[in-house]
Amino acid sequence: MNNDIEQVLYTQEQINQRLTAIADQLTAKYQDECPLIVSVMTGAVVFTVDMLKRLPFKLNLDYVDVSSYADGTQSAGQVKLVQDLSSNIKGRPVIIMEDIIDTGHTLKYLADLLKGRGAKSIEICALLDKPDRREVAVEADYVGFEVPDEFIVGYGLDYSGLYRNLPYIGILKRSVYEN
Ligand code: 5GP
Ligand code: MG
Ligand code: MG
Repeated sequence: MNNDIEQVLYTQEQINQRLTAIADQLTAKYQDECPLIVSVMTGAVVFTVDMLKRLPFKLNLDYVDVSSYADGTQSAGQVKLVQDLSSNIKGRPVIIMEDIIDTGHTLKYLADLLKGRGAKSIEICALLDKPDRREVAVEADYVGFEVPDEFIVGYGLDYSGLYRNLPYIGILKRSVYEN
């Protein structure tokens, strides 16, 4: 599995440090708010769990599953809700946790959907941001790291279902998906 990685961008230690810094910001803002954390399956699962362990205040956890990528490395631009929330979010502060903002379509769709349901506030917390590829205007309120316009895997991010369990964030070798 490690042989398929072109370059490690962020080590587990760098990720840990960055998550702690973001968690401190979230704690300062939300400690008396009991926010609902909405984790976007499946890429954000590792990020979400590691963040949760750093948030020492009352919160709820829910998740959605959306699809925009099929199995490849290019966004389809169209977002579909595959699994909805089970919580009522009316009047609640919501924090969306996502693995990566690429074109921005996924988060634009989700933020609009949750706004329409009457959330008290919505903030976006993204592990990674790939700003070069943005097609719609979406800004994360908290970003772990910026990444170059390459296909990224590890720490929850997959290619064709694989590599989510790598403990670091890296660039996938092109030879893995081009032939
Ligand atoms: P967007 O809608 O912003 O274009 O894309 C969002 C989704 O596409 C992300 O949640 C992620 O699942 C997937 N995605 C975008 N870029 C990458 C990437 O470099 N690597 C992986 N594994 N998934 C990506
Ligand atoms: Mg995703
Ligand atoms: Mg994916």
